Amino acid sequence: MQTETKQKVMDCSHFINGEYVQSSNAKTFENVNPATETVLGNIAIGGKQEVDQAVSAARKALNGEWKNMPLKERSNIIRKIGDLILERKDELAELESLDTGKPLWLSQKVDIDRAANNFYFFADYMTTVGTEAYEQDDLAIHYAKRRPVGVVGLINPWNLPLFLMTWKLAPALAAGNTAVMKPSEVTPMTATVLGEICKEAGVPDGVVNMVHGFGETGAALSSHEDVDAIAFTGETITGTEIMKAAAPTLKKLSFELGGKNPNIIFADADIEDAIETTVRSSFINQGEVCLCGSRIYVERPMYDEFLDRFAEKTKALVVGDPFDADTKVGALVSEEHYRKVLGYLDIAKEEGGTFLTGGKAAEGFDKGFFVEPTIITGLGKDSRCVREEIFGPVVTVIPFDTEEEVLEQVNDTHYGLSASVWTSNVKRATGFSGKIEAGIVWVNTWFLRDLRTPFGGMKRSGLGREGGSHSFDFYSELTNITLKM
Ligand code: NAD
Repeated sequence: MQTETKQKVMDCSHFINGEYVQSSNAKTFENVNPATETVLGNIAIGGKQEVDQAVSAARKALNGEWKNMPLKERSNIIRKIGDLILERKDELAELESLDTGKPLWLSQKVDIDRAANNFYFFADYMTTVGTEAYEQDDLAIHYAKRRPVGVVGLINPWNLPLFLMTWKLAPALAAGNTAVMKPSEVTPMTATVLGEICKEAGVPDGVVNMVHGFGETGAALSSHEDVDAIAFTGETITGTEIMKAAAPTLKKLSFELGGKNPNIIFADADIEDAIETTVRSSFINQGEVCLCGSRIYVERPMYDEFLDRFAEKTKALVVGDPFDADTKVGALVSEEHYRKVLGYLDIAKEEGGTFLTGGKAAEGFDKGFFVEPTIITGLGKDSRCVREEIFGPVVTVIPFDTEEEVLEQVNDTHYGLSASVWTSNVKRATGFSGKIEAGIVWVNTWFLRDLRTPFGGMKRSGLGREGGSHSFDFYSELTNITLKM
């Protein structure tokens, strides 16, 4: 298990107006390493007072130097944030793995690299953005003037802490806003370092702020009179709370919420590729990725072979210390979440499911929240394990006979985030995929992203889209100006 030297301790303070500060009442709580259950440090708990201070710093900064900074200069600062993230890649990856329990190689390859890339992408993108203009006969010219929305609140979850925070912060800054970030209380460390990085990159004081704390801190931000927009990633139920809190002030809202994503594997698919990728889409990051495919539907002629080979590869996944290079599945993020996932395994048993692999806490660990990668068969479409988001290393597999039958099951959900379709039939690849009620459909692949494309969910998986122009439009306001000719 992790050596003592890996038990890095870091206290997490708020970052307000360019300074790290404690709460006025000095209240903190402990940040626990989910792989060892040791305390990593104390996290400040922000209340209304700290949220007020952060929002007021952001408001002041909005109308200061940031507003009048030439585009190229702002773009260079945003690019520099990306550079500094990469310069501190090893440190940030280590903090991310200590906080989340995910394998170190994954933090390096996905979380930190992609966090830097978010800044590089929007630093470029912002220099190319235009607006609309219309000539109306010889009466008038209409053109749209773009401006920032104002002070934006960015509320984030624990599964990809730095990556998801920067996915919001980068476009918010690129469009000229100032921000108050609220990282997850479960994984506060890399966001805390981000404050220092922004300052070093030349972001003026007050432009980027951060308040730590629980849901109440996020709620104070969502209902704040002087916050103009909230971009939130997290659970669907939290999204509904934020919507209520934001309603009286009619804030702009962007929501990336939960999912229960289907993988549909037709018998004509490349089975090698389908299995390889399905192992990844099921268990990467301990299954704690909103895009993980947790409902797997396999066409009957391929069902038995798929199950045998999928189970064989799943059993070979090493569950272990996040800092061990061989580890493929680390610890779940917290004891609370671990109990929730184990609770679903009990439900699966009660519902008559069969565990093809896993089905229990991983053995051989005195401490930490490790669960074996679990494949469940024999559950029907009404099973809670098939319908509810478990957000752990747990998938269900169900056979199907016809396209119509599987499509009905695939769409029979309140969620609509993503799906993967596996087939070598081009007609089906386009026709069937187009009928799936999800914001993102991958065909013969998974998690292949291009930051220009619309990202987000439909139904109760989200509101609006992020990515390229979609992010930029969310963080902008347009004024139409009409010039009479
Ligand atoms: P969560 O909703 O419990 O918490 C997310 C954030 O919201 C945290 O910072 C939390 O403190 C804050 N919060 C909690 N209550 C609040 C309230 N009433 N008002 C304002 N803020 C509040 O989510 P989680 O457990 O941290 O993350 C897991 C969830 O995130 C899963 O449902 C997963 O699918 C979803 N997720 C979605 C995407 C996506 O892109 N669609 C990406 C990652 C995670």
